[in-house]
Amino acid sequence: MAVKTTTASLKKYELPPLPYAPDALEPYISKEQLALHHDKHHQAYVTGANADLEKLEKARQEGAEIDMKALLKELSFNIGGQVLHTFFWSNMAPAGSGGGGKPGGALADRIDQEWGSFDRFKAEFTKAAASVEGSGWAALAHCSMTDRLMIMQIEKHNNNVYPGFAILMVLDVWEHAYYVDYKNNRGQFIDAFWNVVNWDTVNRRLENL
Ligand code: MN
Repeated sequence: MAVKTTTASLKKYELPPLPYAPDALEPYISKEQLALHHDKHHQAYVTGANADLEKLEKARQEGAEIDMKALLKELSFNIGGQVLHTFFWSNMAPAGSGGGGKPGGALADRIDQEWGSFDRFKAEFTKAAASVEGSGWAALAHCSMTDRLMIMQIEKHNNNVYPGFAILMVLDVWEHAYYVDYKNNRGQFIDAFWNVVNWDTVNRRLENL
């Protein structure tokens, strides 16, 4: 049976603008690489998530059957892409102008508490990013049940995710994040990433938990 829906007034996903100019992260991430990543790859997840929502809405309006398993899998993938990329852009800043160096404040204390030193944390996060199988992410996350920081390795955009954990920082290690600048050398891209981490943003996310 068809149902009356009022989805026209409901929000859709939107591509957030980059919080800096596309050449702002050079030389670590080139303008070409960053613009392609944001304008094409990130946009594709936004478009995909909205298309999935439209499929759901259309089926509801027509009272039609939905292949829930397939559609929800696709939706989870696309929403994961939208959320993680949005985090990623904001946890970077131009080197020497908000990006790079070491964290301060509460984040520095938490990292020392958990890992003993920033260098140990950096080494573990680097290894997590380097060893993601196929396409995925490394993330720094917070567990509200234990009030501890943890590293999370995410395959694709949604596999291996700890449900309900707040994400504080992410690093995209899909090949599309670095192939223009570093070809297939993921390790070089991960090393470059540390020069553009916006620790203030990561700290703020921790403080706002
Ligand atoms: Mn990406």
